[in-house]
Amino acid sequence: MKTLILGNGQLGQMLGQAAVQLGDEVLLVNTKTNEVMPVGAHQAVSLTLEQAVEWADVVTWEHEQISPQHIALAKHKFLTDPNAIQPLTHRRHEKQMCDDLSIATSPWKSFNTAEELADILASWETGAVIKAAEGGYDGKGQWRWKPGQDIDSLLATAGQQPGIVEAFIPFNYEVSIVGARTQNGSIHCYPLVQNVHREGILSHTFAGLVDIPTHLQPTAEQWFQKLTEHLGYVGTLAIEFFVVGEGENAELLVNEIAPRVHNSGHWSMVGSNCSQFSLHMRCMAQHTIPELTMAPTMMLNIIGAEKIADSLWAIPTSQPFWYGKAPRPGRKVGHVNFSVTSLQQAEELVSQYFETHQLLA
Ligand code: AMP
Repeated sequence: MKTLILGNGQLGQMLGQAAVQLGDEVLLVNTKTNEVMPVGAHQAVSLTLEQAVEWADVVTWEHEQISPQHIALAKHKFLTDPNAIQPLTHRRHEKQMCDDLSIATSPWKSFNTAEELADILASWETGAVIKAAEGGYDGKGQWRWKPGQDIDSLLATAGQQPGIVEAFIPFNYEVSIVGARTQNGSIHCYPLVQNVHREGILSHTFAGLVDIPTHLQPTAEQWFQKLTEHLGYVGTLAIEFFVVGEGENAELLVNEIAPRVHNSGHWSMVGSNCSQFSLHMRCMAQHTIPELTMAPTMMLNIIGAEKIADSLWAIPTSQPFWYGKAPRPGRKVGHVNFSVTSLQQAEELVSQYFETHQLLA
C-alpha cells in the first residue's frame, strides 16, 4: 500500500512513522511549497505533486484545511470526500451540522457584521464566547464577553469578520473521544480522556486516570458513529466535549470536531496497543484493528520551548516526542507521554513541570 499524506508537520510525520511500522510506503506533501517529502527529512524527493498522486494508492491529510488545488488533483484517491469535511473548518457550519444531527452543543447564533454581532449581544443573557467563523484554533480568534460589558472594543475586533456567538459554558471539565471508522463502516473508539487547557491551548491529557461517568462513553460513541456516517468518513477523527453536570446527571456538549488525528490522542502512542496514527493508517490500508486498549498515561504538551528539558528525557517512564520546530510563544513544539500509576502522580508531574518551566507565553 502506498499512501500520500497532505501535510508534513508533526501529525504527518507521526502518521508516516505509523505507516512505516505497518510495512506500507508513504510520502508527505509540504502543502505550502507542494514539495514531496520522505518521512523525517527536509530534503524533497524528485517527484512532482502530480507524480506523487499518481504513485499513491490513497491520499489522506494531516489537517482539514485542504486547498481546492489539492482536492482537484487527488479527488480520485481520497477515501473520505474532502468536500464533505469542509463544513468542519467553519464554526457556523460545524454548529449547524451538530444541530441537524441532534448532537448537543452550546447554544449559538451566527453573525456576518459588527452590527449583527451588536444585535445578538443586545439580547444575550449569559456570558458568551465569540469565535471567528474561520481560521481560529488554540484559542486564537476567540473573545470572551459578559453581560454589561462594553462592546465597542469587541465590535472592533470580533466584529471584523463573520463569526458565532456561543453561550459561555461553566463546564466541570473537558473530554474528547478519538476513534476511527473503517472502509467497511466499523467504528473503533478509545475511552474518553480528560483534557486540560491553559490559555485556550491543550496543555495535558489524562488517559485512563479520571473517573468519567460511564454513561458518557456510549453517548460519545453514538455521536461519533452518527457524525462519521454522515460525513462518509474513513480514518481517525476526534470530538472535543464540555462535561456539564455531575455523576449520573453529567452530559456532553460538543465543542469542536477534528476530522483528523488529534493532539488529545497523542497519549495513545505509548498508552495503547494501537496509536491513533496507526489506527488511521490501518483504515487507509485495511489492516486489522485490534480491540483498543488504554493504559494510564499522561500526555504533556511542550509549548513555546527551545527543547524538551533533559530532566524529562531522564524520567524512565517518559517518552518525549520533539517536532523539530522553531519555538514561538504558544506553538506546540513537542509532547511527552508518561506512563503513570495514578492521577496524583500525573498531577505531580504536571506541577513540577510548570514550576520549573514557565514557558507558556
Ligand atoms: P476552541 O478553540 O473552541 O477549542 O476553544 C479553546 C478552549 O476555550 C476550549 O477548550 C475551552 O477551554 C474554551 N472554550 C471555548 N468555547 C467555550 C465556551 N463556549 N464556554 C466555555 N469555555 C469555552
